[in-house]
Amino acid sequence: MAPYDSDSSGGEDTDFTETNVLLGYAAEDSNGEVVSRLGGRPDWLDPTTAPSSALARCKVCKDLTVLLLQLNGELPDRFPGHERRLYIFGCRRKICRRQEGSIRAIRGVRIAPDAPTAESIAQAKQEAKEAKDNAAAAAAKAASAASQGLGNALFGVKTTAGDGARVNPFASASANPFAPKQAASANPFSGKPASTPAAQDEKPKPDTVALTKTFAETLSLSNNKMQPPPTSAPAPEPWPQEAEQPKPYPVRWISDAEYETLDPSPALPLQNVDMGAMEIDSADAGGSGGGKEDKEVYESTMDATFQKFADRVGENPDQCLRYEFAGQPLLYSKDGPVGKLLYCGEEGAAKVNSGGAKGFPRCGNCGAGRVFEMQLTPHAIEELEIDEDGLDGMDWGTVIVGVCEKDCQEQGVEAGQAGYLEEWAGVQWEEVTVKR
Ligand SMILES: [Zn+2]
Ligand SMILES: [Zn+2]
Repeated sequence: MAPYDSDSSGGEDTDFTETNVLLGYAAEDSNGEVVSRLGGRPDWLDPTTAPSSALARCKVCKDLTVLLLQLNGELPDRFPGHERRLYIFGCRRKICRRQEGSIRAIRGVRIAPDAPTAESIAQAKQEAKEAKDNAAAAAAKAASAASQGLGNALFGVKTTAGDGARVNPFASASANPFAPKQAASANPFSGKPASTPAAQDEKPKPDTVALTKTFAETLSLSNNKMQPPPTSAPAPEPWPQEAEQPKPYPVRWISDAEYETLDPSPALPLQNVDMGAMEIDSADAGGSGGGKEDKEVYESTMDATFQKFADRVGENPDQCLRYEFAGQPLLYSKDGPVGKLLYCGEEGAAKVNSGGAKGFPRCGNCGAGRVFEMQLTPHAIEELEIDEDGLDGMDWGTVIVGVCEKDCQEQGVEAGQAGYLEEWAGVQWEEVTVKR
């Protein structure tokens, strides 16, 4: 269970508890958001450098998938100097549903040439600690971080006034970390690139890179193409013209994000949340007390995982996505390949650290562990299919994305250049047996 503390800000009912899970809400109006959205066509970190289209092909039918989500995933505290975006793609073909590889995730990353190293981050944190006693100085640093970004950004995030003791990865110098129009925002859903200083417009300083341009760099500058991969990797595939790509879903902007609040009182059975498989016999889902026979325990646990999902999501039924870097996904089921991989025996709990038989597979690029970053929730389907009749739409319960915990860069991509890596997308499909 994620740690939480009570929400003491504002006039909300203080009986509600706030979790560390950031919920994303979709709307037609962008409200100033420019990156994070459901649907549409992908906006790559560098418009002139797209990943190989092979990363967005359905592994079942080999056709191109379409964008389900594009998310600003910048975490200037954790990864200063890293521009990050997550992309989730899904195949539109009905015959590919419920099949491994029909939904895929890509992480785009561009690391500024002067991005702090792990050492300099530790040093900067120490300095930030020393500055903590002086509120004015801290505020000034936060403001400085807002304007200068990058290395300074990490000063701003731990000293936000009013955010209490909680280590909030999204907190920023602004009072409201979720305001999409504020440049200071460190909110991953914020449209503003919070830490994009030199990466886009300036060439790396001569003293930070090799003196001569590599062949790859020259090629990528002149051709606006991916640099040649290592000889063992397949050649990058170009994208067809948009007219030849499958029809995209309509754009629904993630224009609002809020930390999840939960009613601590016992959850009531869901009434009006459309989750497809949501109708669970409450007599089966209830039992939490008393000794049981194995079969009963099994059934109760099975239902409890889903019931927890339904209850938790049902408390904020308009959420389209749940975000908590290195947090815990909310499992839709403990069964199926994803449930079997992540479920670790406690009610609804998931093992997310890599290694051993359970947990996310390790990063295929650098070998580091993977951590949970975000998941789509069923309401995202309603938003994506808002123009469709809804009778035969997508039928997943959740899409869980696990990412490299080190936010590594694609092999051979220079500082200041955008790279793209496939990340782990685990799909839990709607229960067929109870489908409408
Ligand atoms: Zn397909
Ligand atoms: Zn990695």
